[in-house]
Amino acid sequence: MKQRTINLTPEELPREWYNILADIKMNPPLGPDGKPISPEMLAPVFPMNLIEQEVSSERWIKIPEEVLDVLSIWRPTPLIRATRLEEVLGTPARIYLKNESVSPPGSHKPNTAVAQAYYNKVFGIKKLVTETGAGQWGSALAFACSQYGLDCEVYMVRVSFDQKPHRKTVMQTWGGVCYPSPSDRTNAGRAVLEKYPDTPGSLGIAISEAIEIAVSDTTGKTRYSLGSVLNHVMLHQTIIGLETKKQLEKVGDYPDVIIGCAGGGSNFAGLSYPFVYDKIHGKQIEIYPVEPTACPTLTKAPYVYDHGDEAKYTPLLAMHSLGHAFIPPPIHAGGLRYHGIAPTISQLVNDNLITPKSITQLDAFDAGVLVARTEGIIPAPETNHALACVIDEARKAKEEGKEKVILVNFSGHGLLDLGSYEKYFNHELTNFALSDEEILKSEKIYETFPKPELIRSF
Ligand SMILES: *Cc1c(COP(=O)(O)O)cnc(C)c1O
Repeated sequence: MKQRTINLTPEELPREWYNILADIKMNPPLGPDGKPISPEMLAPVFPMNLIEQEVSSERWIKIPEEVLDVLSIWRPTPLIRATRLEEVLGTPARIYLKNESVSPPGSHKPNTAVAQAYYNKVFGIKKLVTETGAGQWGSALAFACSQYGLDCEVYMVRVSFDQKPHRKTVMQTWGGVCYPSPSDRTNAGRAVLEKYPDTPGSLGIAISEAIEIAVSDTTGKTRYSLGSVLNHVMLHQTIIGLETKKQLEKVGDYPDVIIGCAGGGSNFAGLSYPFVYDKIHGKQIEIYPVEPTACPTLTKAPYVYDHGDEAKYTPLLAMHSLGHAFIPPPIHAGGLRYHGIAPTISQLVNDNLITPKSITQLDAFDAGVLVARTEGIIPAPETNHALACVIDEARKAKEEGKEKVILVNFSGHGLLDLGSYEKYFNHELTNFALSDEEILKSEKIYETFPKPELIRSF
């Protein structure tokens, strides 16, 4: 029998996160006055211990024991050699799936939710407020809050709230409260509803609502929590790639190609950043963030300063952005419907260390169904985008007759996304591609903002 699963013992769990800010140069976030923000300006939104991580340039940051203790409920996660998929594709490539779907909420997201809930708890915070796209992040934070005895309030993008009704119940089971966004509970939500009563919503709008609720709590014991994009989130996710390195060492392999789907960028960053470090130090690796053609942030949008949310509450971040007011088409990969991307990922694109790709909705589901029928796990619609890219690479390896090693982040399972699979089987899913005019239209939004420098880290 072939060895299909490569496991680590609990003792082999990484004890430090890898911080990519130690190895690249970045444009700083800017405040309303156009000047770099100070850590204190973020204090109403995040606890100071997380703000310190956000701006830290220490390469290795210790993972607290109390965080490892909760992570060990499902970590280390298995690395799966996808031999059945390889056979069906007839490829000489070796395909490895890092299976992040085994966590309680079913995705990689609790890796940072647990860390964030812990740091907020230590700082004396009682309640966390957040947004969620497909519901994975809201579920992850509700789970993490339940572990540390914090309250949790979630604003869920309207279209996903309607497409995935059970997510709300998942959050409720862990003690979280979930509202569809835009809601009439905030100024930001009411302003959007007045203009567009039937809007499907967006992550940008839901972020505005969550920040507004967090900063308007007069007790001072409520903070906001973000599930992707920011430096400290990417940091917490690197446990994925650090585990994977140890697992591949055990079987004497090393990746030629690394693939992850990218919404805000956290699962991609989590798997790839420890390998980006190797690439900076001379390793030859192709590294692909994969996004939907319906929301082509890295592949089509310009590198600009833009807000992370619709109501412009966040600082200006230097990133590829379709515009903070951009409302992406209602694709089923709700976690990939974000107008921007992690600033560190944008910088790595500028440094030519990673190469973005895009995939249509139907190609993504074709790939997801093939993987489900070979490897067994039903992937999340987001994950399907990465898997479509894996299959492309495996077919290329076959044409070239090359024994490539392909590594992918299996970011989540799709057992709460079956409505979208049902639509796929009923031929009701369509592709959305954004025209260049639509992209130009949204580009105008940030004409008045400062322009980021095109920095090269090396
Ligand atoms: C949220 C989510 C994503 C997208 O978010 P990133 O921050 O880009 O990782 C991808 N896959 C799954 C399963 C998700 O839940």
